[in-house]
Amino acid sequence: MAKIGINLKEGKIADKKEVIIGIDLGTTNSLVAYIKDGNAVAVKDKTGKNTLVPSIVHFASPTEVIVGDQAKERLISDPQNTIYSVKRLMGKSHQDVANFEQYFGYTILDEDTESLVKIRVGDRYYTPIELSANILTELKTRIEQSLGETVSKAVITVPAYFNDAQRQATRDAGKLAGLDVLRIVNEPTAASLAYGIGLDENADQTIAVYDLGGGTFDISILHIQNGIFEVLSTNGDTFLGGDDFDRAIVDFWLKQNNLNTKEVMQDKALSQALRLGAEEAKQKLSTQEEFKTEIQGIKGELTRADFNVLIQPLVDKTITACRLALKDAKLTTKDIDHIVMVGGSTRVPLVKTEVAQFFEKAIHDELNPDEVVALGAAIQADVLAGNQRDILLLDITPLSLGIETVGGLMDVIIARNAKVPSKVGRQYTTSVDGQVNLKIAVFQGERDMVTDNRKLGEFILKGIPPMPAGIPKIEIQFILNADGILKVKAKELRSGVEQEIDIKAQYGISEEEMAKMLIDSIQNAKGDMEKRALLEARNEANNIILSGEKFIVHNAKILSDEETKTTKALLEALRQTVAGEDKDAINKAMEELNAYTGPLAHRAMDVNIAAAMKGKKI
Ligand code: ADP
Ligand code: MG
Repeated sequence: MAKIGINLKEGKIADKKEVIIGIDLGTTNSLVAYIKDGNAVAVKDKTGKNTLVPSIVHFASPTEVIVGDQAKERLISDPQNTIYSVKRLMGKSHQDVANFEQYFGYTILDEDTESLVKIRVGDRYYTPIELSANILTELKTRIEQSLGETVSKAVITVPAYFNDAQRQATRDAGKLAGLDVLRIVNEPTAASLAYGIGLDENADQTIAVYDLGGGTFDISILHIQNGIFEVLSTNGDTFLGGDDFDRAIVDFWLKQNNLNTKEVMQDKALSQALRLGAEEAKQKLSTQEEFKTEIQGIKGELTRADFNVLIQPLVDKTITACRLALKDAKLTTKDIDHIVMVGGSTRVPLVKTEVAQFFEKAIHDELNPDEVVALGAAIQADVLAGNQRDILLLDITPLSLGIETVGGLMDVIIARNAKVPSKVGRQYTTSVDGQVNLKIAVFQGERDMVTDNRKLGEFILKGIPPMPAGIPKIEIQFILNADGILKVKAKELRSGVEQEIDIKAQYGISEEEMAKMLIDSIQNAKGDMEKRALLEARNEANNIILSGEKFIVHNAKILSDEETKTTKALLEALRQTVAGEDKDAINKAMEELNAYTGPLAHRAMDVNIAAAMKGKKI
């Protein structure tokens, strides 16, 4: 297996060692770091003070995008066009975030509960990948201005609990920002590296990484031996963090002022102002005992002692998660050699004392808790650049491997730079009623359309029992061994029908050709993404049209003539947008159709329709 360096600017394989940057793409804050004279440093903004870039994107107009501190200021004045916490939406469906929607100041589309979240800003629809790419572009620009040279290679961190789709989404965001993402690294691993844990090849240690950020809590138990990190267990809560401390403070203030939370929260600008006021109070209380403010006539007073009472249940939750993580790793607190504190919320004194008390050991909090992950990412990048010889480099796949899905899209199953050997499985379904054969075409490469990638082989899964579209459950497994042989297995799980082939993934491709494929993918990332967005919108619309037509037939008795007529007209309008080239028009037509038929579907409660819409079509 290969390790290739490319020079994006010149389109050649790199000979000189270029800077590889480390990026912490956070829910609340992001930052970029690199190795300067042997030490990891986080890059500061123009004022020379801040290293954190708030992970906030503001659209003044579709072409005027602002990221970071200036975007944060717009949270109050223009909440509808200001997107925050987008990492929470990466790879998520509407259903996943439904309960928290009242806390978002912007519009998350409620199309159908199964499909991935999109965000509407004015007449435009954005995916979390595009919005994350905006943040990454800001970080790339920041470091380029600071270094006075272009950078193109990066290591990006993700939470240990991120699944395949979420990791792939992060890679795609990097590509869209013009970055060659050499590796996706777990945040707790990066944090440990920042403390130098794992850099000594003789060390054999067990580490607890306690990461309390703005939106998420993550406890990871890691074991390090011979410089290799193994995740023994993880636990945590995707919806627990400093934001919840802020909410607790807002609720407390509203109660003190005899105000109704629900009513006040309807006013998006006021609720944002309260949120920011509460955050300020919380941060001040990390170093002082009391805080006072007034927000649009609402008095906000809080002491450290009252704050501790408010957050005690939340901190207790994190300790319970620590206990569970230890249990899963079959360890006790005595087995832990180091406790690494990560995330801005670990500055809260109560958090520090409770964690130290639970583990009965001093915690590592010497480094800036909101920088450690980026610093560690930079160290990992340095290792990948070959500058730290002590650390073992594992075999990796040089190019992504995947299959063709509806519309000629590449669906990556094993991502580029994945460790070898590797085994990944994913479920698919059919797109046509009664489909008995399914063609599985295997491709290698980084482009979004399979026609731009290398075809490695194909086979047909035969004998699927006839079922309505969307019902078969077809599992496709990619098993890549150390010799670069890829075994592809397909199995229809309801009937047990299966088929497999072996493919030589490396065969007949030189390092130069691989490098060219990588460069092409980054240079075409924007165009590819637009094509993908259009095709995905069309696929989604076609599914909805299919379900909509069935819906009218199945529920002829339930629907009034007027309702049938309107539904048909909306379906026709959607069909017309599908014939066009404008993804935003398709999304808008889908939204309108769903808004109208949603209540009708509720009435009909047609389970078959819901079932028919499940799964990704192939
Ligand atoms: P994420 O990893 O989610 O991007 P960070 O690690 O940057 O988040 O942490 C952000 C959170 O840390 C926010 O909720 C912020 O209010 C909180 N925070 C930052 N500084 C302090 C402080 N001095 N005291 C308490 N909380 C803080
Ligand atoms: Mg973080």
